[in-house]
Amino acid sequence: MSFKRRPLIAGNWKMNGLLDFVKNLAGVLADKVDQNDPTHFDMLICPPATLLHPIKILVGKSGLLLGGQDCHMAKSGAHTGDISAEMLKDLGSSHVIVGHSERRVDYNETNEVVKSKAEAALGVNLTAIICVGETEAERNQGITVDVVKSQILGSIPERATAENIIIAYEPVWAIGTGQTPTKGQVQEVHVLIRKTLGDKIGLKEAEQTRLLYGGSVKPSNAIELMDLNDVDGALVGGASLSPIDFWVIAESCPK
Ligand code: PEP
Repeated sequence: MSFKRRPLIAGNWKMNGLLDFVKNLAGVLADKVDQNDPTHFDMLICPPATLLHPIKILVGKSGLLLGGQDCHMAKSGAHTGDISAEMLKDLGSSHVIVGHSERRVDYNETNEVVKSKAEAALGVNLTAIICVGETEAERNQGITVDVVKSQILGSIPERATAENIIIAYEPVWAIGTGQTPTKGQVQEVHVLIRKTLGDKIGLKEAEQTRLLYGGSVKPSNAIELMDLNDVDGALVGGASLSPIDFWVIAESCPK
């Protein structure tokens, strides 16, 4: 019998949002989470770090979870412009995204760097959402399996468990493009991720680890994607900036 994993819907606001977003977006979602308590999913938002504190004050003890979009691998020190995992924790975060493809590309983050960042997150009891995914060229060359496998093996800390990590499979060519893989392609990569995780952290942990799909998830495709056996939620970019769309996506998770 397969293990029942609680779905997580995570919103990555990226570099979007000023103070007015706090009430209009985070406030609306926090109210919805409270009004619908208990929800059959966890809901997380990862706003720009500048908004974490005002959002934490607004959402208070609501069930809406908060996370960062990245953290530095070091605890503190001479790293101008960077943010440590502990700083995110201090502002009320429970999660942090690491290894998003935009960071892998814009800042040349290697698997090794991503792993160090994930380790820093685990060190302060933040759950690390570790992103992996192939580019369009890699898919066309037929090397998706090799790429994703090596990202998983190279980016996951030795002490990873089902409790302290979440994997987000985000094909780079599907992010912000409106293109999505077929259901078969998504399920195939999620099965590969779970198997690779099993080799690395053990079958029991792998079976319980949540695997999110990300890349152009929207209300119109959420039900079919969230319904896949090894998809345990979504990492949502663009559609997470609309509280209505984001809520519809969350409600698409099977009960
Ligand atoms: C993302 O950037 O993590 C993402 C999935 O973006 P979008 O939903 O806009 O494709």
